Amino acid sequence: MSAGSAANYELYIGGKETGGSTGARRTLLNPASNEPLASVAVASREDARRAMETAQEAFDRSGWAGEDGARRTKALFRLAQKLEEQADAFAELESLNQGKTLREAKGDILFVVRTLEYTAGLADKLEGETIPVPGPRLDYTLREPLGVTVHIAPWNFPLVLAMRSVAPALAAGNAVVLKPATLTPLSALRMAALAQVAGIPDGIFNVVVGAGPEVGEALLGDPRCRSVSFTGSVEVGHRISELAAARRVPLTLELGGKGPVIVFPDADLERAAKSVIWGIFGNAGQMCWAGSRLLVHRSLHLAFVEQVARIAAKLKVGAGTEPGVEMGPLVSREQKERVLGYVEGARSEGARVVTGGAPYPEGPLARGNFLPPTVLDGVAPDSRVVREEIFGPVLSVLPFDGLDDALRLANATEFGLLGSVWTRDLAVAHQVARRLECGMVMINDPPASFPQSPFAGVKESGIGSEQGRASVEFYTRRKNVVVNIGLPRTKG
Ligand code: NAD
Repeated sequence: MSAGSAANYELYIGGKETGGSTGARRTLLNPASNEPLASVAVASREDARRAMETAQEAFDRSGWAGEDGARRTKALFRLAQKLEEQADAFAELESLNQGKTLREAKGDILFVVRTLEYTAGLADKLEGETIPVPGPRLDYTLREPLGVTVHIAPWNFPLVLAMRSVAPALAAGNAVVLKPATLTPLSALRMAALAQVAGIPDGIFNVVVGAGPEVGEALLGDPRCRSVSFTGSVEVGHRISELAAARRVPLTLELGGKGPVIVFPDADLERAAKSVIWGIFGNAGQMCWAGSRLLVHRSLHLAFVEQVARIAAKLKVGAGTEPGVEMGPLVSREQKERVLGYVEGARSEGARVVTGGAPYPEGPLARGNFLPPTVLDGVAPDSRVVREEIFGPVLSVLPFDGLDDALRLANATEFGLLGSVWTRDLAVAHQVARRLECGMVMINDPPASFPQSPFAGVKESGIGSEQGRASVEFYTRRKNVVVNIGLPRTKG
């Protein structure tokens, strides 16, 4: 598979590529150059309905949901293997479409491989229970798939964030309709085609591309929709929860973040500085779990900020597919402008731009959606750059005076996804882990997550969790069965 060669992409419904009912298409641009990359079919409400109908038929007739999970285990392992064989090609496609570096994209694809393997291993282990009850009765539970599950994904980790919910839904025996982000649908479309090759029955894995308010809402409003998994912005997440509540379907929401990174003076400062860099400039800062607020003890404030800024200024920025590049472009012109708006706002309020902060004036970096790694110091705790998710390569720094002050600043946010702490003092590290209001904590490590561990946020960062054993169970329902096993009374 050569990523650049197949420039036309269709919807994927019922095990085949199919055009949209209106014939509408969208041209996707390479974010590194803003030149056309691919043309993709755009679905209508009618296509959404068709995808749901197809998925329901496949769920009812293909036997995918059948009692023997071994078939699903084998198919998902085959899919993992095929994806691993094509990892470089998928990584290139992801990099060209989203902008991330090839290294990051390869990491993403291998994460999806591991997610498929992990969930494949659970597909034949969805066990029920036997429950002691009064009388001559046997009470047991069955775990059954939900039916047709809907998955709506964002553009920052296109394949990872689609497959971390699609894979467990498939493992549990459901039929899936995925709507990737309009800007970044290419890897998901390729993935659905690969699933067919791996032996997943036609109609069990469908992908429709289209505008959220039209196609996404049509999927959610369809009476066949049995659950929704949404990863994206807080604003859209609120709308999704209204729609899911109206339909009374279970949902998971993985929304935004404004992650604090707390650095104490006794930390390994060299490692901490490098990790701060990866935690905010990885994926050009377009990460829900980005460590976008650096909280640094006042005694090392200026020295540590300079240390971080020195590394940031040296990062090699360029097209994700270029060798040696450490930070790619933002996903779109709109995203670049949005991020610049935040920086300008902070500057006008008196923030000190320690490094970066201005767009590239000319050359290839000006043509693409590039921004330099940016560090802002002297920001007010209630300023927009400290409170709001920027989703770009911008780090805001705040000094603190002690443990309580650090935690007060860290928790002063509507978000609660991932927080980090750097210290050699175990007691301090664990206190911070307990008192941070968030779903995930890193101690002396940059942000990390694994298919087998939960990924979850609290407050405005979301409801429920992805990954881990519970992710497969989410896509099942428990049915309770009571059997009267009382024998007729023996005479005599
Ligand atoms: P977005 O909310 O704009 O879009 C996400 C998806 O929702 C897209 O597929 C979009 O088409 C669809 N959508 C939009 N309106 C819809 C509607 N009314 N009904 C149904 N679907 C609709 O988010 P984005 O800009 O693509 O992604 C960035 C956001 O995602 C950031 O806020 C980021 O923090 C968040 N995010 C969260 C996590 C997490 O795990 N917590 C991970 C990655 C990204």
